[in-house]
Amino acid sequence: MRVAVLGAGVVGLSAAYWLARDGHETVVVDRNDGVALETSYANGAQLSYSYVAPLAGPGVLPKIPPWLLRRDSPLRFRPTLDPDQWRWLLRFVLACNRERSEATTRRLLVLSFYSRRLMHEFVARESIEFGHAVNGKLVVHSDEAGYGRARALVDYQRTLGCDQDGLDRPRCLALEPAFGDGTRGLGARLVGAIHTPGEEVGDCYRFCVELERLLMAPKAGVRFALGTQVQRLVVERNRVVAVESSAGPIDADAFVVAAGAASGRLVSSTGLRLPVYPLKGYSITLPVCGASPRISVTDFRRKVVYAPLAAGDGPRLRVAGMADLAGWSREPDPVRLGQLVGEARAAFPDAADYDAPIERMAPWCGLRPATPLGTPILGASPFANLFLDVGHGALGWTLALASGRIVADAVARRRPDIPLDGFAFGA
Ligand SMILES: Cc1cc2nc3c(=O)[nH]c(=O)nc-3n(C[C@H](O)[C@H](O)[C@H](O)COP(=O)(O)OP(=O)(O)OC[C@H]3O[C@@H](n4cnc5c(N)ncnc54)[C@H](O)[C@@H]3O)c2cc1C
Repeated sequence: MRVAVLGAGVVGLSAAYWLARDGHETVVVDRNDGVALETSYANGAQLSYSYVAPLAGPGVLPKIPPWLLRRDSPLRFRPTLDPDQWRWLLRFVLACNRERSEATTRRLLVLSFYSRRLMHEFVARESIEFGHAVNGKLVVHSDEAGYGRARALVDYQRTLGCDQDGLDRPRCLALEPAFGDGTRGLGARLVGAIHTPGEEVGDCYRFCVELERLLMAPKAGVRFALGTQVQRLVVERNRVVAVESSAGPIDADAFVVAAGAASGRLVSSTGLRLPVYPLKGYSITLPVCGASPRISVTDFRRKVVYAPLAAGDGPRLRVAGMADLAGWSREPDPVRLGQLVGEARAAFPDAADYDAPIERMAPWCGLRPATPLGTPILGASPFANLFLDVGHGALGWTLALASGRIVADAVARRRPDIPLDGFAFGA
């Protein structure tokens, strides 16, 4: 079959990988001149297989007023006139309860464990280098109450198969030397942390470029149509009959939408409504010059992740965070970038030269393709030859291989390896 994948981020490329393995004649279309130049470019670098709890949790509603009022809040809501933003927010608020949040966590863990298995098989099968390491993850809490709640969640997640532990302050300081003697930075305010030894890290952009290389090999037979803006999908009865693009019509038997945050807009001409809205986040990537974490560390209070990245040009620290529900702009806000630098300086004061000009910190922002519940939408759509691989929010890299495989199963009308409960369109 001829399949067109619309979007060459980590999600679209992963889908193309499985489609090519199924023997389909696959074309990957993207508006940019290279792969993974949008949200998959400089994300938090975490393969976060055990930390999948959605943003819409039971404790979130009381935090909404500070989101509105405080400019330095890790989560920020800037109201716009866009009805999609308000619809998204309403559905998000309705999902902020324990029952919903636990059901979503359960489903996402099934998907993420499946993705981990596929990643391990993939790394063993393919010759691919993207700084992949199993370095573990430490989610640091700065108050006893929050740490207590996190430990209760660990107990719950253990029943679902997660290998995690609560570590008290002395054990955290012993585990991660970058906390020093605990008198400065994040080490000074940590009361305990949740440690997951099996969590993984790597450079998502390098993963994508390597995947592109594999897909372009003659035996994979995937074609890339880069620099091609998809303009409109035309449907008749229950099929997509034409896809218009800046390079002319795209001819295929089946179409996979993997356009990240733009997916809703991409399919709007078909009448489909996807509850995917951008949640903007930021990162900086710093050359390491002092004590810097070797484990991935998340500062739970400030919602900032610190990930060590190995690279040819020396070790670097990826610092990522912020979630702004603030519309569609892809321009970085210098104030937010400044806040991120301030967070990093306060957390790991010796790790990098924070007085360097911001341009030397590889400043970046990206739009997480977020659904209100936090679950992606995978597989069939109401149109027989249109498939969805969208809405991965803060977990797109973590879930990409499993999602792509599920979409390839849907294209092949094959039963997926895991239940699609909660991930199907309209669920
Ligand atoms: C600050 C931050 C930190 C994050 N940290 C992590 C992390 O640690 N771990 C993790 O798993 N996830 C993380 N994420 C989330 C993850 O990066 C995303 O979920 C993932 O990159 C989404 O991939 P995608 O392929 O769906 O979207 P994208 O990477 O945005 O790809 C979509 C592609 O579609 C193309 N496109 C869109 N519209 C059109 C059109 N009309 N025509 C042609 N092409 C089009 C775009 O050019 C783009 O290349 C983070 C995100 C952010 C912002």
